[in-house]
Amino acid sequence: MEKIKMTNPLVEMDGDEMTRILWQMIKEELLLPYIDLKTEYYDLGLERRNETDDQVTVDSAIATRKYGVAVKCATITPNAARMTEYNLKEMWKSPNGTIRAILDGTVFRAPILIKGIVPYVKNWTKPITIARHAYGDVYKNTEIKVPGEGKAELVFTAPDGTQTRELIHNFDGAGILQGIHNTEKSISSFARACFNYAIDTKQDLWFATKDTISKKYDHTFKDIFQEIYDEEYKEKFEKLRIEYFYTLIDDAVARVIRSEGGFIWACKNYDGDVMSDMVATAYGDLSMMTSVLVSPDGVYEYEAAHGTVQRHYYKHLKGEETSTNSIATIFAWTGALRKRGELDDIPELMAFADKLEKACVKTVEDGKMTKSLSLISTCENPVILNSLDFIRAIRETFDSLA
Ligand code: NAD
Repeated sequence: MEKIKMTNPLVEMDGDEMTRILWQMIKEELLLPYIDLKTEYYDLGLERRNETDDQVTVDSAIATRKYGVAVKCATITPNAARMTEYNLKEMWKSPNGTIRAILDGTVFRAPILIKGIVPYVKNWTKPITIARHAYGDVYKNTEIKVPGEGKAELVFTAPDGTQTRELIHNFDGAGILQGIHNTEKSISSFARACFNYAIDTKQDLWFATKDTISKKYDHTFKDIFQEIYDEEYKEKFEKLRIEYFYTLIDDAVARVIRSEGGFIWACKNYDGDVMSDMVATAYGDLSMMTSVLVSPDGVYEYEAAHGTVQRHYYKHLKGEETSTNSIATIFAWTGALRKRGELDDIPELMAFADKLEKACVKTVEDGKMTKSLSLISTCENPVILNSLDFIRAIRETFDSLA
């Protein structure tokens, strides 16, 4: 059988620990036998980031802007323990944060649904994709612990020195204060990324804030979304028969729980932080969550939502058998390959991605799975496979599909 040819490369960002091991296995077993794989390779493993003073992360993001599509393996975000473990020069920042800042992107997370893994919310028969605004609000706050009596004001000083003041509170005793901000530019980028992704995946878009209480701050989010929708996206949405729906955050939560899924839920930074974990857990497992970073100008970076699965890696290093679920990482590859196929007009590449995803789902539905999946599956007698055998089982299923 002839291998599928690619015209433009994918940006390949390798990573750390157990997911780095899976990365190789996926390429060898599931990709290289079928595709003349063209990638521009960046090693974002922590050792290489340390050697290059993290320049490799920046370079990989710039390459992503150039080529339009990237696939990323999970990477370690260093903490104090990692400083010693890897003898680091510096506590390098999260690669995801660095890449997101360069691409000005929004992260969309969606669960992979499989029969036999039943969501806690029984009526969620379709995936709910969460889009989290990744800039500002409480994540870039300024706080004061008020020691006692005094007046708190919000002050804005324009370049010419004019000041706008608002009283926050006249304290008659100790308390707390917090200042938060966002920018029109960031909110607009977020809105465009959400509208584009809704069109791309042909799903409705929901957005919610607390604009009845926050009449300027949250209301600005609502207004920006509405203006951009009306001016740039309304016609496209109507043509595709998809909907942009705005409501209050408390109403959104109630509707989401009652829904069958199948839409994108755009959330402000804090709401997205909280809701994405709730939604991921309710669908079953973090290892079945995909994640894609989309920039407002249409650049895509695909990855698994989970981390490097450190505990399994240490077992692997000791020569012990691991049973790590590679599905979300495989879906990162299929997402990127499908997008590459779409952009370069290579239908075989898109068909390959569809077929590989089908093979993953069918393998688990046929009762062959990793240990963590067997714990949440309703399958009566699952065959529990190790990391490599699971990937090989997917290959067998793939070859058996028409
Ligand atoms: P993790 O996602 O690696 O693991 C969390 C838990 O889920 C663990 O119990 C793990 O065993 C389980 N798990 C996750 N994915 C699994 C899979 N595919 N198969 C089986 N079990 C799975 O998160 P963590 O332990 O908090 O972090 C480990 C490292 O990953 C850290 O260094 C962190 O910085 C990094 N991390 C990276 C990313 C990323 O690159 N996107 C995201 C999160 C964490």
